[in-house]
Amino acid sequence: MARPIRAIFDTGALAGNLAAVRARAGGARLWAVVKANAYGHGLARAARALAAADGFALLDLDEAARLRDLGVTKPILMLEGFFAPADLPDFAALGLTAVVHSDEQIAMLERARLPRPVAVFLKLNTGMNRLGLAPERCGAACERLRAAPAVGAVGFMTHFADADGPAGVAEPLARFERATAGLPGERTLANSAAILRYPQTVADWARPGIALYGCSPFADEEAGGLGLRPVMTLASEIIAVRDLAPGDRVGYGGTFTAPAAMRVGIVACGYADGYPRHAPSGTPILVDGQRTGTVGRVSMDMLVADLTAIPGAGVGSRVTLWGEGLSCDAVAAAAGTVSYELLCALAARVPQVERA
Ligand SMILES: *Cc1c(COP(=O)(O)O)cnc(C)c1O
Repeated sequence: MARPIRAIFDTGALAGNLAAVRARAGGARLWAVVKANAYGHGLARAARALAAADGFALLDLDEAARLRDLGVTKPILMLEGFFAPADLPDFAALGLTAVVHSDEQIAMLERARLPRPVAVFLKLNTGMNRLGLAPERCGAACERLRAAPAVGAVGFMTHFADADGPAGVAEPLARFERATAGLPGERTLANSAAILRYPQTVADWARPGIALYGCSPFADEEAGGLGLRPVMTLASEIIAVRDLAPGDRVGYGGTFTAPAAMRVGIVACGYADGYPRHAPSGTPILVDGQRTGTVGRVSMDMLVADLTAIPGAGVGSRVTLWGEGLSCDAVAAAAGTVSYELLCALAARVPQVERA
């Protein structure tokens, strides 16, 4: 028999989350963000379950080509645009929409001769200081783009640095609106957090990612309360049980010492499956549907769960690492990270099953 670990994908929840996001996004069209293999959920699976989206957004040309091969004819937004002039013929051939965030990209477009023009969204840096032109350069850059024969429609984009945090969107939104005032073209600003918290930002197109996968973009608000259902459940089983005497230590480095007699279960899941190695003792985990905590260091293929309060649990008991019944957000918070990272890190060796 194979190792009992598996990732279970609820594609009905994926479609349901899209509908829930749409209900919050006014009339905005939605680019379902499917970068990083659809946040670990599988690109083809996500494209199928999210067929009601108005388009898809990602980063890799290979993944965009795969979407076209899968029969996707809707707009595909390339979130970092093209990386070299040699990419542009592919953008034209595949009908991709490019984010343009740099002078270098504008120059590449000015020099390009393409069989058909590429639609672009000019990205403005409104405070993230990652990608994008300074807002005051928007008008001039827009003129250059409009004059380039390789360029089709020109729209405008920004990305919020703190839509999920205390700074909010007021300042960057004002900068974006000032820079683009009076310029014709579509607008796209909002990620999941902005859609859910700042409906005034949804504009023509919104770009939900994490909410589609049933996780919360907020540290202080749970996915369930936002009407979102988990899509990925990482499940496994107990493969051994042992009794600990007070003072016994557990795992590499012996970082956990039993304060009293305890019963623990060894779970077939480790960091090589994508479980975070930094999850400390006490990270929430479900055994037979009951919430308990991990014990000791996570190793490559195994981790340990406290079964002291679950006397019925034994070898073969079902374990949920995250997903249905235990939000990925809670596990991520305990491990000092965000659900995004856990979902994306699901390892290729974990068998995948689908449930509609
Ligand atoms: C990843 C990404 C998104 C989606 O963000 P979520 O927080 O997952 O909703 C939107 N826009 C851009 C530019 C992104 O890179």
